[in-house]
Amino acid sequence: MTSATSATPDTPAALLRASPLPPLEARILLTHVLGWRPTQLITRSDEPLDSAGVERYRALEARRLAGEPVAQLVGAREFYGLDFEVTPHVLIPRPETELLVETALTAMEHISRPRVLDLGTGTGAIAVAIASMRPDAQVCAVDRSAEALAVATRNAARLLDVKRPGGAVELTQGDWYGSLDATRRFDVIVSNPPYIASGDPHLSEGDLRFEPRGALTDEADGLSAIRVIIAGAPARLAANGALWIEHGYDQAETVRAMLAAQGFAQVRSERDLAGIERISGGLYAGAAEVAG
Ligand code: GLN
Repeated sequence: MTSATSATPDTPAALLRASPLPPLEARILLTHVLGWRPTQLITRSDEPLDSAGVERYRALEARRLAGEPVAQLVGAREFYGLDFEVTPHVLIPRPETELLVETALTAMEHISRPRVLDLGTGTGAIAVAIASMRPDAQVCAVDRSAEALAVATRNAARLLDVKRPGGAVELTQGDWYGSLDATRRFDVIVSNPPYIASGDPHLSEGDLRFEPRGALTDEADGLSAIRVIIAGAPARLAANGALWIEHGYDQAETVRAMLAAQGFAQVRSERDLAGIERISGGLYAGAAEVAG
C-alpha cells in the first residue's frame, strides 16, 4: 500500500510490517501466494519478491480487509489435523466441531466396522476425519447441495487412503435422511446442521456473511433441522446406536429435552474448549425395548 514505491523492492518482512491485517492472517495469505512454508517467511524474509507475487498478495489482503474469510481466500482450512479444501459453497470447518468428531469416535470405540452417517456434510470434514481415524468405518455422508458434495468428494479422495478397509466415503445428495434406503441402519449418526435462528445478528457479521446461508440458518428458530434429525434418527439407528448433534451456545437444554422426548437414553451434552455446551446426544435402545 503506502510503502509500494518502485525504488525499494518489496520483501516478505516489509509486506508483513506494512500490513493492516492481524499478523497471523497476513502470514497465511503471504505463504499461500508465494507457495512457501511458514518457516520460509523467516529464513527468506529479506528476499526481494517479484511484482506479480506482491500484487497477488495485495489483492488478497484487500479482499480480507473487505471481510472475505481467510479460509476462502486460500481455499483451505485445517480440521482434525487434515487440510480441507474450502469454497464459498461450504461452511468453513470450526475448531469446536472437532468435539463432535471426538465424541463420535468414542461412541464407536467398541464397534468394529461401525456404520456412520454424517448429515449435512459440507466440506466433508466430520465424515473424512472419522474415516481417517477409523479406517474400518463405513461412512456415509449426505448433503442437499451438489456444490458441497463436489467439495466433499474431492476432500475424501485427497485425504483418505484408497485402500482403507471401510471403503470410500459414500457421498449422496439428499435432504437429511431423504435419500437413504429405508432399511439402512447406522451405529452412529452425527450432524452439524444449520442452527442459527433467521434473525440472529451474527449472520451479518464476520466470516458468516460469506458462507452459504443454508449451512448456517434454517430460516426459522434455529431448531428445525435439529428437530428433523432427531425425529428421523430412531428409524435409522441400529440397536443402541448413538446420535450426536452440534448446536448453538444456548440450545443444549432444548436439544436434550428433544432427545429425551424421542426416547433417547443417556442423553447428555459436551462442552467445547470455550466451556460452552456445544453438542448433545444419546443412545437409542431400539424400538422393541422401548415399546416393551
Ligand atoms: N458454528 C457456526 C457459527 O456459529 C454455525 C454453524 C452451524 O450453523 N452449523 O459460526
